[in-house]
Amino acid sequence: MEISENIKRYKEELGEKVSLVAISKTKPNSDLLEAYEGGQRLFGENKIQEMAEKWESLPKDIEWHMVGHVQRNKVKYMAPFVSLIHAVDSLKLLKEINKEAEKNERTISCLLQIKIAEEESKFGLDAEEAKEILASEEFSELKNIQVKGLMGMATFSDDEAKVRGEFDYLKSVYEDFKKKQTQFEILSMGMSGDYKIAVSCGSNMVRIGSAIFGERNYN
Ligand SMILES: *Cc1c(COP(=O)(O)O)cnc(C)c1O
Repeated sequence: MEISENIKRYKEELGEKVSLVAISKTKPNSDLLEAYEGGQRLFGENKIQEMAEKWESLPKDIEWHMVGHVQRNKVKYMAPFVSLIHAVDSLKLLKEINKEAEKNERTISCLLQIKIAEEESKFGLDAEEAKEILASEEFSELKNIQVKGLMGMATFSDDEAKVRGEFDYLKSVYEDFKKKQTQFEILSMGMSGDYKIAVSCGSNMVRIGSAIFGERNYN
């Protein structure tokens, strides 16, 4: 299989400034190991049980990113090992992550998901809501989380101008927030179909699944 070749090719194309998260949801451990052998260490999953099973059986120097929507009652299962939670969309969820991080004597890194697509199905905060969370006193009391930046998903569309407009918007929100949030360093945007546009708009973390591992049969 060409998975390890794909990894090498993407890493070379993206260079040092853009992190590659290999989205391995639904794929068997053997596929992840091929990517690992190609030098990949950041893997992203969207279901906690699947991620926990893979974490248990695969090499321990893998960093696990949760990229899917997170339910509060599932946080405890990822808190011992998750390295970045991409799609945080409420203060309540941040509080829960903080609580579980504290139990595990860890600090957990998170991104706030901003809704930039027009599709109703996509989760996320609007920029104003995110700003309010970051400015709130409750947020400032959460010592076991670190919000390192923003994540967004563009509309699934062939209309490049539209997708570019959405990514440009998220980049501008990121730059605006960064003035106050000195810990901000991650702007996670771009998937298999739109990562080139995302990178040209300033993404520094892309989440690529099917272009590395092949099409998925289900989500
Ligand atoms: C599945 C998924 C991806 C990867 O999608 P591809 O189109 O296969 O690259 C990226 N981000 C999130 C949040 C996902 O759920």
